Amino acid sequence: MTSSPLVSRANMDILDELQLIAAQNLERLEVNKYYEVIRELGKGTYGKVDLVIHKIRGTKMALKFLKKKTTKLKSFLREYSISLYLSPCPFIINMFGIAFETDEYYVFAQEYAVAGDLFDIIPPQVGLPETVAKRCVHQVAIALDYLHCKKLVHRDIKPENILIFDRECRKVKLSDFGMTRRAGSPVKRVSGTIPYTAPELCDVSRHEGFCVDYSTDVWAFGVLLFCMLTGNFPWEKALPSDSFYQEFIRWQRRRTNTVPSQWRRFTEQALRMFRRLLSVEQDRRCSVKEVFGYFSHSWMLDAENDNNNGNMVAGGGGERVSGGGGGGGGGGGGVRGEVDGTISSSSSGEEDEEHLVERMKQQTLSPRSPVSPLSPMLPVAVKRGSGGSGAKGGMMEPGGGHHFVSVSTNSSVSSTNSYDRMPRENGSPGGRMLVPTPIEICV
Ligand code: AMP
Repeated sequence: MTSSPLVSRANMDILDELQLIAAQNLERLEVNKYYEVIRELGKGTYGKVDLVIHKIRGTKMALKFLKKKTTKLKSFLREYSISLYLSPCPFIINMFGIAFETDEYYVFAQEYAVAGDLFDIIPPQVGLPETVAKRCVHQVAIALDYLHCKKLVHRDIKPENILIFDRECRKVKLSDFGMTRRAGSPVKRVSGTIPYTAPELCDVSRHEGFCVDYSTDVWAFGVLLFCMLTGNFPWEKALPSDSFYQEFIRWQRRRTNTVPSQWRRFTEQALRMFRRLLSVEQDRRCSVKEVFGYFSHSWMLDAENDNNNGNMVAGGGGERVSGGGGGGGGGGGGVRGEVDGTISSSSSGEEDEEHLVERMKQQTLSPRSPVSPLSPMLPVAVKRGSGGSGAKGGMMEPGGGHHFVSVSTNSSVSSTNSYDRMPRENGSPGGRMLVPTPIEICV
């Protein structure tokens, strides 16, 4: 035991400090007293994310609700404090410094990403135009590098955790730090994989657990790039039993010169980049920063046509396998017509929203509000109960390739051991489908 608070403080880093302060300041609040709930943005077994308007300030925010039943206070404080700690990076979601609890939930407030998440704009089996994908990759790489410089590993890199503010990806931000840990932390692997999971984590024979390492983010980042550029997953799982993966590693390890079929659309430079990002041996995997060296090259062989779809980015819904709605919300799914906070669409939902914002702003003008819920808070330790976000995984296509479909990162695999679609609970069109899928859980 340390006797002097000065000594203990010296031994503590800013993240520990943030968590302790957050714990001390966590107040109990009634959501409806301070926030007008507009709609749900995302949902999972962990809880939900709601778009709200701050009744006093009239500010739109995304409130993340983590169920107390499945979330330890320590886990909540960790996610909150890490998010707050990283938020100065322009490519990481911003925080409002608000955290509180209700009877059922732990809650914190983030800036609202008006266009939802990246998953919602990747056209299945087509991918994003190279220019758009590169713009997005550039920002995500900076965010990830920032995180790694802070000695943290995100551990859940996937399109659902990249929030977007416009459909052309001029402004994107990394989010969801529920799985984030310090590099080198020991974690116990529980079960399951998703297409972004690095091969060393898919290896079920490793009962002893492992140490959190930057290279697992790099692998997931490589898979993310493939998904963005093609609208497919490269494989279902990075396991030898997966024939797509098997084919890839034979080429990767130079056992064959034949480029696997789904990789033949890339230029030599892009393939070189993928070889470095997706190196099977962890210690040979490059750092995220290395992708900056590839931006001056074309990545797609059909780049002149910009993936044959010009600069159009998929509007949510349409032919997407995933419903578009969750992130974008509302009816019809997909991305809403708001860009950089400006409400531009004339859809009735948005008119209502605008009206509400105005109403809230007027309330702001009232002389003095009774309480300020904007209590400055700082984060601490976190871990979502059994994994968490409303996430999506992949589904095997009979004809090869794995197209996008929504699944959550929670609990069990479907009976087919694949990723299933699920009807949206409220039956609204274009909704996000959340299906239990396995993910490794750390302790
Ligand atoms: P999370 O559990 O944080 O990954 O959030 C689940 C889903 O909710 C995400 O995939 C997004 O579609 C949506 N979401 C979360 N945070 C925000 C936000 N700040 N702005 C807009 N949508 C969000």
